[in-house]
Amino acid sequence: MDLRHCNDCSQSKPNIEFYHWPKSKKKWSNYCRNCTKKRHREWYKTNENAQRKYQRAKAKLYWKKPEYRARVKAYRAKRRRENPKYRASEIKQSHRSRLRRYDLTAEEYTKFHDQQNGACAICLQVETSTRLGRRRDLAIDHVHGLKVVRGLLCNRCNRGIGYFRDDPLLLDAAIRYLSRSRRKI
Ligand SMILES: [Zn+2]
Ligand SMILES: [Zn+2]
Repeated sequence: MDLRHCNDCSQSKPNIEFYHWPKSKKKWSNYCRNCTKKRHREWYKTNENAQRKYQRAKAKLYWKKPEYRARVKAYRAKRRRENPKYRASEIKQSHRSRLRRYDLTAEEYTKFHDQQNGACAICLQVETSTRLGRRRDLAIDHVHGLKVVRGLLCNRCNRGIGYFRDDPLLLDAAIRYLSRSRRKI
């Protein structure tokens, strides 16, 4: 049995304990399988942030491709059909990623939610619109481009102020416009 020397743990181990690439120039890894795994784990730990950033950028790029999006959507729909628990895990994850996007902790979200009695901060109604048969969560309204959260809004009000470019002057003009036309009726 051929033995190889591992440069990390300095042990001699049988060939089978080493990764190898028969077609490459190098052919054999300098480290045994155990040490290679350890190296990867350590590399990942020190480069985790860079790695995450890279993966996120790549995912963003992919998400712009319609054929990729269609494939992901079909895959998710299939999993929802096949596994009833999948939808619940999707909801949990999307909630978590929404919180992360605005640097909001779960406690801070709950605080907003409780202060507003679970209703929209503008129309004071609870959310009625649904997605995939489930009532939507209130949207996290934030200052555009900043991670400053103003409050929670229903889907309609959130879109509404968005269409008015979050601009109080424009909204004011809209109110005056509506009042003017009301007087004509
Ligand atoms: Zn080793
Ligand atoms: Zn509302």
